[in-house]
Amino acid sequence: MNAAERIQELKAQRKAIILAHNYQPPEVQDIADFVGDSLGLSQKAASTDAEVIIFCGVDFMAESAKILSPEKIVILPESDAMCPMSAMCTDLELGPMKERYPEAAVVAYVNTSAAVKALADVCCTSSNAVKVVGKIPQKLIIFVPDRNLGAYVQRFHPDKEILLWPGYCPTHHDISVREIKELQRQHPQAKVMVHPECIPDVIDLADNVSSTEGMIKYARTNEAMEFIVGTEVDMTYRLSKESPDKKFFPVPSAVCPNMKRTTISSLVRALETMSPEITLSPEIIEAARKPLERMMEIGHGD
Ligand code: SF4
Repeated sequence: MNAAERIQELKAQRKAIILAHNYQPPEVQDIADFVGDSLGLSQKAASTDAEVIIFCGVDFMAESAKILSPEKIVILPESDAMCPMSAMCTDLELGPMKERYPEAAVVAYVNTSAAVKALADVCCTSSNAVKVVGKIPQKLIIFVPDRNLGAYVQRFHPDKEILLWPGYCPTHHDISVREIKELQRQHPQAKVMVHPECIPDVIDLADNVSSTEGMIKYARTNEAMEFIVGTEVDMTYRLSKESPDKKFFPVPSAVCPNMKRTTISSLVRALETMSPEITLSPEIIEAARKPLERMMEIGHGD
């Protein structure tokens, strides 16, 4: 029996579902039941009757799945698959900031720990952040943890004051103007899509700024046949599957090492040992669920 067959066998025994983020290696995407962005995957997990969720992604994503499906066993196959941007904002740091600005609303990007979400008024994703900030009544916003996404949102809401937390995604933050311009020189017909976690100067070069799922829609519906993809490199694998007649050019340096930790072997091991399991206290689950639910009410349809 090969590894893929073993995974299928164990999955059936465990009543498990395998979810993979768009940035996972191609072989992991291929074996997953669903591939998508973090929140879409968590919502998918909550709506299935699977008892076990194997989350091929990073820590905060598996935590979100647990928050939305507390009765299910959630497993992150590689426990050291941790998002450095999420780690740049802790509950111990956010607490004093909230005390300093009691009139502010805390908007937490979903790329945060459960403990940080538990302190937030509302969560947002990269696709609904502009809408969420526009819908909340507060004029003063503490936006955590991504300063690039926060600055992008600020462009659409000049009437609001957004206090930017100094976090960033190393993978997106390091995509440079020089790299995008070089790709444009090589592929002059290509449209430029970039993720809003990129720096403002890179965003200014884009034809389209969107989340990973937004990029899939843009590429599918745009009449262009070539696209420069300003996000993690393996997004081009998913894009090529969704639009096989089109060409996608990644930024070669944009690799998230934490997204590459999960392998086929770690999936087999996770299903065999049913570990490492995500555990959160009932209090944290309860508190972190509220801002996620508020986001889903506001950002419905995003
Ligand atoms: S791509 Fe960036 S935000 Fe996503 S997991 Fe990697 S470091 Fe975190």
